Amino acid sequence: MAYSPVRKYKKKAVRRGREWLVRMLTALFSALFAFFGSWSYGQTGKIIPRRELLTGTASIHFIDVGQGDATMILTGDAAVLIDTGPRSSAGALTEYVKTYAGRLDYLILTHPHEDHVGGADDILESIPTGRILMPLVENSYTESLLHTAEEKNIPVFDTVPGSQYTAGEITCTLLGPVHKNYENLNNVSAVIRVDVGGTSLLISGDAEQEAELDVLMAGNLPLLDCDIYQVGHHGSSTSTSLEFFTAISPDHCVISCAYGNEYGHPHTTVLQLLTLSGAAVYRTDTEGTIVLDTDGKTITRRGSLVAAEEKQAS
Ligand SMILES: [Zn+2]
Repeated sequence: MAYSPVRKYKKKAVRRGREWLVRMLTALFSALFAFFGSWSYGQTGKIIPRRELLTGTASIHFIDVGQGDATMILTGDAAVLIDTGPRSSAGALTEYVKTYAGRLDYLILTHPHEDHVGGADDILESIPTGRILMPLVENSYTESLLHTAEEKNIPVFDTVPGSQYTAGEITCTLLGPVHKNYENLNNVSAVIRVDVGGTSLLISGDAEQEAELDVLMAGNLPLLDCDIYQVGHHGSSTSTSLEFFTAISPDHCVISCAYGNEYGHPHTTVLQLLTLSGAAVYRTDTEGTIVLDTDGKTITRRGSLVAAEEKQAS
């Protein structure tokens, strides 16, 4: 074919046009990716640690809040916080939840005592929360929380035994409180079995032996059997009766309390019971925040894994 400057110009123009189209499409896809990418992040607001991104993995964070409880259950797409520690650690707890979860599907409060609900207002103020679950008993904390929940349009549910709440792969089954008319408010504590990624966790707040017995008598034996036990009432001897502990028969026990606390928690008799059972025992008062990771088969303490890797590298 004869050389034609016009055809060559046309070819060049077509090529330029194609290049322009490719550049435009690349820019468009990049913009769409950036937009939808940030949008999906914006929706969840999550900063997900690498381990939670792996399919089927979950982590349970026993957050060091001093004398109190605050436990977060986290998967790649769901987060549940059970209790919020005392008022004095509300700021640190809020920062922790903001960093690891960003939002909560459920805030569960075992019972309205300061060392369990003291940080709830700060959490509700700073962390988008889907639902609240707590024992609806007459109490100034309960009233204040109901008021905040109404202001923020967050539905509140009473802790009814037998009820079940699910967020992604996290399922919370309520085993207690069996009654609401206990004289001691500790006994109104929600007793919760959490199932996540093939692992089970039992949390009983500050429920004492009387309430533990009621949970046992209500026929919950198969559901009490759990892998991890957050030791009742910060390791106080008023809780964790031999019968209750035997029904749980955990492999891992976590005690949440403050170092040198005025109550002497955890009490020696409880520590002896846990140790004699052969379960691994972790304490926030001496070890700080405890994070247990699970892939459904193995439960690993996060800190120990890091320590082991560092040891190998050195
Ligand atoms: Zn307590």
